[in-house]
Amino acid sequence: MKLVTRAQLGWPASAAPTQTSTKGVKVHYEGTTVSVKLLDDHDLCIAEWKSIRKSHLANEEENYSDIAYNYGACPHGYLLEGRGLGKRTGANGNQPLNRGHYAIVGLVGNKGLTEPTDAMLGAIRDGIELLRRHGAGDEIKGHRDGLATACPGNHLYAWVKKGAPRPGGSTTVPGPRPVIDVSKVVAAASHDPAKSGTPVSYTGVKTVEKALVAEGLLESKFADGHFGTTTVKAYAAWQRRCGFSGDDANGIPGQTSLEKLGREHGFDVKP
Ligand SMILES: [Zn+2]
Ligand SMILES: [Zn+2]
Repeated sequence: MKLVTRAQLGWPASAAPTQTSTKGVKVHYEGTTVSVKLLDDHDLCIAEWKSIRKSHLANEEENYSDIAYNYGACPHGYLLEGRGLGKRTGANGNQPLNRGHYAIVGLVGNKGLTEPTDAMLGAIRDGIELLRRHGAGDEIKGHRDGLATACPGNHLYAWVKKGAPRPGGSTTVPGPRPVIDVSKVVAAASHDPAKSGTPVSYTGVKTVEKALVAEGLLESKFADGHFGTTTVKAYAAWQRRCGFSGDDANGIPGQTSLEKLGREHGFDVKP
């Protein structure tokens, strides 16, 4: 993921209202002419993103406190931070719609640059996955879903209707997806901590640990296939991230949290 943060843009923290969970993400386009020159000059993407914020701040009718989108995606595959994580969008048309979904805009319009590049689609996908890790539900919709608007244009909307797949070749080559048996992971998490050394009781534990590493919850040196105390602590942090608390966040995996981890990190869980 190629993220351009607000700090890098020289913007202060967003004053937009808090919104820690939604049903999912809505995809937008600019709905105006976007210059094809953007394709050759990423500096123009940054300038475009800053001018969108400026115009939103000047919108007295909406009384915007910030750029309306959570993220933007440029033709070069950069994910541009807008309101960012944990903030309600102002882009979906009205307050109930803004509460319902976060918003990501592709820097394409209805004239000039109208077709998203594969890199842009990849960046929108990056944004969707990032928001999902921080409270967004699984829905992926277009601005026009539930509102009379042409947004996000026919190209982006067709992609949304396909489930917003990551374009081929932009990241990992899909291999066979591992299938994890939750009962074996639970057994490992229950019995491994008491065992000295790092014996591996179930090879699927390593897949789970790699996902926890990718989430930033576990140091990679502990991804050794042994579900020890450090992995239990890391898994408890994942459960809290999924919204569990108390005994439901004790570090012993459950079906729901494990399936969510698998959706984000390329494995399936045996039903
Ligand atoms: Zn829109
Ligand atoms: Zn760019």
